[in-house]
Parts: sequence; C-alpha cells; structure tokens
Amino acid sequence: MASYDDTTLERIPPVLQRGEKEHVLVVQDETVFHTNEYRRRVWLAQDQQPIRKKGFGRAIHVSDFICETIGRIKLSEEQIKDQLDLPDALRLPAFEARKITYPGKGFDSWWDLAQLIKQLKNTIAIFEYTHPNCTAVFVFDRSSAHEGYAEDALNVSNMNINPGGKQKKMRDTFIPLSNPDPAPGEEDTRGQVQRMCFPDDHNDPKLRGQAKGVKVVLQERKSVWDKFTSECKAHRTKMVGKCSSCAKSQVHKDAERRIALAESMGQDDAVLHEDITHADTEAPSIAEDPWCCMYRVLALQEDFQSERPLIQTIIEKAGHVCLFLPRFHCELNAIEMLWGYAKYRACTPSVLARACTLNWPVSRISRFSGRKIRHCKGTCPAVS
Ligand SMILES: [Zn+2]
Repeated sequence: MASYDDTTLERIPPVLQRGEKEHVLVVQDETVFHTNEYRRRVWLAQDQQPIRKKGFGRAIHVSDFICETIGRIKLSEEQIKDQLDLPDALRLPAFEARKITYPGKGFDSWWDLAQLIKQLKNTIAIFEYTHPNCTAVFVFDRSSAHEGYAEDALNVSNMNINPGGKQKKMRDTFIPLSNPDPAPGEEDTRGQVQRMCFPDDHNDPKLRGQAKGVKVVLQERKSVWDKFTSECKAHRTKMVGKCSSCAKSQVHKDAERRIALAESMGQDDAVLHEDITHADTEAPSIAEDPWCCMYRVLALQEDFQSERPLIQTIIEKAGHVCLFLPRFHCELNAIEMLWGYAKYRACTPSVLARACTLNWPVSRISRFSGRKIRHCKGTCPAVS
C-alpha cells in the first residue's frame, strides 16, 4: 500500500517485490441529504415573517466509494470515450461507482442490500479497469445493512427448531471436521455433505422439500448430538430447543439490528417503540454453558460460525480484500469527512441541489484518505 509524506501528504508509491500487488484502500458509505436540512437564510420583504417548511423534505440517498489514488471510483473522460467506442457487450456495466437515489413514497425504494450488491459489483469492475494489477482493500462500516447474509446463508436465527413451517431454506454444507470424534462403533458423519432441506421424494409427503430445522440438522451431526445428549444427562437438564437466555438475547439482537438498519437507510421514523425499549435495556447475558440448548449448539458449529456477509463473499471471490471497521467507529471511515464537507458546503438550497452530484477533487479526497490511513495504522492489519 502507498504511504504518505507526513508534511506534504504526497503519495509515495510502494516498492513491490516480484509477485506482489499494490493494495489500494477503497472506503464506502452512505449518507442522506434532505432538501430542507440546510436552509439557514431566506429572502423576505421587510414586514414578512419567515415560514419554514415542516420536516426535512425530500431525501437524497447517496452511496459512494472513494480511494486514495483517483478519488471517487469512476472513469476519466478519456476512459469513458474509449468505453463508448466499444460494442455494448464489451463495455463496463457502469462508468462510476456512486449511486444516487430519491427514496420516499411514490419515488425510489429505500436503499437495501440488493442495491448495495449491484453497486459493489459495478465498483469492482470499475476498480479493476482503473487499477490494473492492483488489489482493492474495501472498507465498510460494521452495520447490519453491510453485514447482510445471502438469502440461503447458514444462519440459525432463520431456523425453526422443528421441520417445515415458516423458515428459510438454506444452502447445503459439510458437517465440520472439527466436531467431536464419534463414539466407538458409531458412524463418523464428519466431512459428509449435509442438505438443509428434506428431499422431494421423502417418505412423509408433508416433509418433502421442507427445511429440516435445528433439531434434525443437529441429529444428523451424530457426534455433536451424542455429546449434547451426554452433557444434558450429566447436568440433569432437559434437551431444549432454545433456552430462555438464548431467546432473550435474540430479541435484543433483533431489535438492535432493526434500529441500525432503519438508521442506515435514513428511516429513523420507522423504528418501533418496542424495539427501542428492547435495545435500550442492557444486553442479556448468555448462558455460560455452550451446551445450553440446540439453538446454541448449532450456532457454535464451525460452518455456521464461519459464514461470511454477502459483500465479503463477493469481494473475496473477485480476489480483493474486505474489512469492516470496529463497531461504532465510523469516524475511522475517510468518506465521513467527504459527507461532512459536502453537507457543510450544502448550506444553501442551490448548493444543496448540486451537493451530491459535485465531483470532489482528488486532492481533497486523498487528503481525507491520508489522514484516516494514519489514524487507522496499528489497528488495521491491511493498512499498517
Ligand atoms: Zn441456549
């Protein structure tokens, strides 16, 4: 990764050994501009009273990626010209990473994971075009909007204890090799493929194609189920699906996730009172015993533990790096300074109208990145 001269903030290119690739920090975030947010001055006749509009007005949602080399991830004028000369099939899907939407009733839908994924795929393509032979180190705030999992990801929160009913149909997996050894004479199920749904030709017609649920999935992981059974016997406890402390902690986590999601989408008004109450209470402590219930035992299985957020999977598949900032430390995100600057500049309506469509100079963005990189050093393995 390039470093910076401390006094001039000039970029010093890295000295690469054979086979090494330059790593370029690319940070992402979203912000919401409101049309009435920054009206501080109005023109009035002498006896006129200012009538201020209620509310913040229309929302303008901006999601963008910036890097230290070219500022906003976008093609230059010449690169766009080159692209336009190509046949449609060979062109990049987009010429800039930034995505501006106008959410609200009767307008665009609110920003969500699906839109972020589409934007991310375009951004990777643009990055690879503008930075041949470089590896991008994508940095995201740790928010539920960014940590969304694929629809079929292994996630015990999306499962019922029993088969069927309303639960997600998850992808196939391998029974972890890290599970306990099988008891003598018992089948070793470790390493076997495990399907999370019953086959379409199952003996019981009611179960055909249905999700198996926590209990059956655990029972098929023979050595874990046996260990769970013996632990419960030893502690003289019942084999429960979900114990009360796991249930309580799930309610708390769900409330926090819904609030964070609404906030990141600029929909703070949509947060339920009930969720705020749950989130404001102290996080319930989880039972010390990792064998407290089936739900916990499955959640702690290696394949469930190692499931990655969808954006991370996409980035790593493309050969780049994905990092999440420490929770509640979005001040480490260089793009926050860009949003702050944009909002500061957007203090009059006419400037506001252009605020999110301005092309901020690379030098300014690099300055933001340079400062943040120094901030980050020591805490972030890819940056130090
Ligand atoms: Zn439990």
